[in-house]
Amino acid sequence: MNPRTSDLLNRLSESATIAMARKATEMKAQGIDVISLSLGEPDFDTPEVLKEAGIQAIRDNVTHYTPVPGIADVREAISAKFKRDNGLDYAPNQIVVSNGAKQSITNVVLALINPGDEVLLPAPFWVSYKDMVLLAGGTPVVLPTRIEDDFKVQPGDLEAAMTEWTRLVIYSSPCNPSGSVYTQEETEALAEVFKRHEQVVVISDEIYELINFTGAHASLGAVEGMQDRVVTVNGVSKGFAMTGWRLGYIGAPAWIAQACTKIQGQVTSAPCSIAQVAAGAAVAADPSIADEMRAAFLKRRELMIARLERIPGLKVNRPMGAFYLFPDVSGLFGKRAGEHVLKSGDDVAFYLLEAGRVATVGGNSFGTPECIRLSYAASEAQLEAACDRIEEAILALN
Ligand code: PMP
Ligand code: GLU
Repeated sequence: MNPRTSDLLNRLSESATIAMARKATEMKAQGIDVISLSLGEPDFDTPEVLKEAGIQAIRDNVTHYTPVPGIADVREAISAKFKRDNGLDYAPNQIVVSNGAKQSITNVVLALINPGDEVLLPAPFWVSYKDMVLLAGGTPVVLPTRIEDDFKVQPGDLEAAMTEWTRLVIYSSPCNPSGSVYTQEETEALAEVFKRHEQVVVISDEIYELINFTGAHASLGAVEGMQDRVVTVNGVSKGFAMTGWRLGYIGAPAWIAQACTKIQGQVTSAPCSIAQVAAGAAVAADPSIADEMRAAFLKRRELMIARLERIPGLKVNRPMGAFYLFPDVSGLFGKRAGEHVLKSGDDVAFYLLEAGRVATVGGNSFGTPECIRLSYAASEAQLEAACDRIEEAILALN
């Protein structure tokens, strides 16, 4: 049979983060000792109380289909969390629970974007945003930022990038991949721009909310006058080390929540009932449940910065959240690795994998080709060893 796939599929790339993690796993299976700093996933286990909540849900026979946007009590708990932590007023009918924040964002993009619509992506952006837009037939518009601005989009640049076709803007804070955190003031300055463009909806991806070293989290939707325009995305994967439970959610204007429910009802019904109950317990818990993990990440960030800063050719950022570093490696461009001349962050990532046995992710698919992303969600011993290898590999370049 002709193995023809759809045009839609052909528009998509494989997720670069997942591809790199897969490559590292394959190399390990071949007996090659690779340290993987590629995948963005906490190396901690789900807290016991949340595991227990899931186990109890099974015992209580919460094992049936649930309403498409999620179990009513769970949406109540999420609504209360938004109010308690973020000053956001989303009623339970404005909440949609999905199989991971990844599905949450896909639902919103599919619900809003027509062919020809532009979606602004301040870069660096999380890899999947762009492909979600392509999946919907929209046009991703990459808006570069500068390492000098801590990779944060400046209001003037945002204003200049808006066109009559702009329909959606997607950004994350704390940001994957840069780790940057927008302050309340910076968030308000962006809101001023959005207020001048009424046709634009904003997805504020706050999935790293609990991994923030500043002690303050700003929600765009909570800025006066913005709530009707903002979809707030969050989930339990990062802050509660629950990546495998596949549970994310949105708070959104009711019309967008309804649209997402319609899509989800045809695609996946609802997310796993058991994961919903555990996620309900997570959002209802005191956010201090994440303190220990955050403290460990902060210590590792310091370790990584101290080690990488002294390597010639790397310009290292000092992220205030998430668990990534996003160094600019353009100082290495033009150097030779055998036959190959390094020309991009992807080339550097490939070289580090081949020569250093450290898996990172090149910046191309984050819209910032001069950088690479390192996830420091690994043990301190692994991070030390990875830094040794990176340093050695880079010093060996001609
Ligand atoms: N947004 C960002 C910025 C992410 O890094 C991730 C990572 N997985 C997601 C959304 C999706 O998370 P999940 O589907 O595991 O909830
Ligand atoms: N979001 C994580 C990352 O950026 C997990 C992988 C993915 O879903 O792309 O690495």
